Amino acid sequence: MSEVLAAEDLTRHYAVRRGTFSRTALLRALDGVSFRLARRHTLAVVGESGSGKSTLARLLTLIEQPTTGRLVIDGIDTARPARDRRQHLRRSVQMIFQDPYGSLNPRRQVGAILEEPLIINTGLSAAQRRHEAQAMLARVGLRPEHYSRYPHMFSGGQRQRIAIARALMLNPMVLIADEPVSALDVSVQAQVLNMLMDLQADFDLAYVFISHDLSVVQHIANEVLVLYLGRPVEQASRDALFARPMHPYTRALLASTPSVDPARRRERVQVKGEMPSPLSPPSGCAFHSRCPHATDRCSTERPALRPIDDRLVACHYAETLA
Ligand code: SF4
Repeated sequence: MSEVLAAEDLTRHYAVRRGTFSRTALLRALDGVSFRLARRHTLAVVGESGSGKSTLARLLTLIEQPTTGRLVIDGIDTARPARDRRQHLRRSVQMIFQDPYGSLNPRRQVGAILEEPLIINTGLSAAQRRHEAQAMLARVGLRPEHYSRYPHMFSGGQRQRIAIARALMLNPMVLIADEPVSALDVSVQAQVLNMLMDLQADFDLAYVFISHDLSVVQHIANEVLVLYLGRPVEQASRDALFARPMHPYTRALLASTPSVDPARRRERVQVKGEMPSPLSPPSGCAFHSRCPHATDRCSTERPALRPIDDRLVACHYAETLA
């Protein structure tokens, strides 16, 4: 397995002031996330809003540094890269966003948008850059004349193709995709997902695919990491997780996903209530205020993320509940 990314016990905490005269509180946006990712593999990160998915994306794209833990990309410790490896690191991980229109400069032609990373990071001539940009347009299913058009002249699906093309211009190893199809019509979602899978094979890419939509995750992921209030609660292969979700939160997420295995869905619990504030998370198991199986132990003792069968689960009673 050719590993391109390793996250070891990543945490990200923020000091937050709640009011003018109140003391600073510690927001644990991410706590204890570890995984390894190989070329041509996809790790899906799932959870509700506030689960830490976007914080993880900012760490993986080097926008922020972890508070503690270690992030290694292509064998380079991102906390201490040698001077001559910094540009390689920045090029190695690229990101695509949920809103392709917001992420594309509306005043620039598509060709200029695609060539910008080449201008900043390479010494290619104008003719070479144009050639590369037009080749990439073709690769994502767009036509040569699209080179001279502006983002507002495209549909949502086409704009996401442009955003994907721009992310690939520097030939990265890892693509962080933050809800990349959730703003698109369902009919277009499948086209973009299939294109992403083709591009993964062609470019030897690894994906971290952030999504709240488990039907999409089931289509594209190899491994799944389920986050709740910044902590991993279940980590498993896609097949194991969908065949037998063990953590009550994972089971609730699957139950609320319409297109995932309706026969099983009836047996599963529904998640109740709102996600607690990460500024004052519940004691013990962070899920206990919403879990239908919670006991007194759950409200006082935090369950460790531990190996059970073919996965990792953070629940005191995972074996008996599954
Ligand atoms: Fe539910 Fe308790 Fe398991 Fe947490 S530890 S998921 S509260 S049963």
